[in-house]
Amino acid sequence: MPAVVIENLSKVFRGPQGEAIRAVQGVSLSVDDGELLTLVGPSGCGKTTLLRLIAGLEPADGGTLWLAGRNATAIPPQERDIALVFQNGALYPHMTAAQNIAFPLQVRRVARAEAQRRVRETAAWLGLSDCLTRRPAELSGGQRQRVALARALVRRPKLLLLDEPLSNLDAPLRAELRRELVRLHGQLGATFLHVTHDQDEAMALGQRVAVMNAGTLQQVDRPLTVYRRPANLFVARFIGAPPINLLRGLIRRDGQGTFFQLHPAAGAGSPREPALRLTDEQTVNLRDFDGVEVVLGLRPEAVSLGPTNQASGSDAPVAAVVEGIETLGHETRLQLSLAGSVWIVRTRAEVPPLGQRTRVWLDLRGARFFDVTSGQALA
Ligand code: ADP
Ligand code: MG
Repeated sequence: MPAVVIENLSKVFRGPQGEAIRAVQGVSLSVDDGELLTLVGPSGCGKTTLLRLIAGLEPADGGTLWLAGRNATAIPPQERDIALVFQNGALYPHMTAAQNIAFPLQVRRVARAEAQRRVRETAAWLGLSDCLTRRPAELSGGQRQRVALARALVRRPKLLLLDEPLSNLDAPLRAELRRELVRLHGQLGATFLHVTHDQDEAMALGQRVAVMNAGTLQQVDRPLTVYRRPANLFVARFIGAPPINLLRGLIRRDGQGTFFQLHPAAGAGSPREPALRLTDEQTVNLRDFDGVEVVLGLRPEAVSLGPTNQASGSDAPVAAVVEGIETLGHETRLQLSLAGSVWIVRTRAEVPPLGQRTRVWLDLRGARFFDVTSGQALA
């Protein structure tokens, strides 16, 4: 039985002029029992509101919420067996770490000895055993967030809602706590719903990733599926860094096969751009699109540099000009001007100098095609 089922949930706020702010619009989502699901989207897209609806801190304007098979839409928050962790921990400043962690047990009148045992055990999971007597002001940012996590976990909740708990931490600490969350999730067997605006964190943590934009759910899938088969242009652009490369062109069929015909690059005398052969699967998917303009999406690692064809999925090189070079050590990132668009290419090969005209090969086997108007993937 899923831990959480949301059906068509909506929330409308009123702005200063009484205008409707549709924070959550008809969201349906199911979180499996024991799953770690990340919810990701840009700031203001409704992530916090959705968590608050699940926790019962905000009444919904429409839709139904099921928790462990029970209709929870009208159940008050304290009876939902949900723990929450926020971005800034929100610890009680006058209490020690131990008292902060023990607080939810105290509220529920858990016997003192049992409470102490659980506080010690939870603190040990989070590496806090040596700072239990300190107050929040005497803890580092990372330790404070660990105390907030311990306070949420001390009750052994079935469902943990995390609202950007790592975003106030610096990068190394964020990476460390990210790994710790994965470990804790594995240990506890609880359901985690983890909210972040950081696609990297969402991909790294989530068993599945739910992508949200402007109050609506765009796609829910395993991280690799979201990366390789984005449902629309928003997901394609939002997931992945450096971002996906996009190019408009025409689908063209003839006796030889089906092709993506690049538009001629701007500028006088530019040679005719090549037509790139599509795979058999793409040919089937795009059989009704002969002569139709589409958007091609190709990840930065699916492009290789000349002189010879390295990418066996490609049969014609495309002319490009090197406009930027970033040497990172493990790879080099090239910014290319290609058929009138700016592309980013990741490579481990020798790269041509800045300003050089060159040729690249596009491996279309991993390509995704999108409707020019709706942005929906054509598959
Ligand atoms: P996120 O967490 O993804 O950044 P939020 O859920 O906080 O997004 O906000 C979604 C939208 O709802 C935003 O436009 C925000 O300004 C608005 N909003 C959130 N809470 C309130 C509120 N209490 N009153 C009015 N508008 C709100
Ligand atoms: Mg938020």
